[in-house]
Amino acid sequence: MKPASHHIVRCQRCGAPIVWCLTTANGRRQPVNAEPDETGNVAVTNGADGILYVRGLTKAHPEPTPGEWRGVPHHSTCPSPPPRRSSGGGQRQVSGVRPVPWQR
Ligand SMILES: [Zn+2]
Repeated sequence: MKPASHHIVRCQRCGAPIVWCLTTANGRRQPVNAEPDETGNVAVTNGADGILYVRGLTKAHPEPTPGEWRGVPHHSTCPSPPPRRSSGGGQRQVSGVRPVPWQR
């Protein structure tokens, strides 16, 4: 199986062909490389509603079913993934705690 061409879009950051999927676990949107990859750790399936669904391959179900194809989440190969929010923008909040001169 392969993604249908109408599902394929380009990553806004690196221009690589990707497909947007919904995770079967919690319905979140996740970009997956459009090119199937035998070493991938997720399986994508074309839902009956025309939406692509992605699930993680687990030890219990390590192989994609005949209707699925194996792929790689694009976040793991994108050369410029979205910045993490926790990294801080380099601006430090000045602390209000200041050593007060001890004078009396
Ligand atoms: Zn990308």
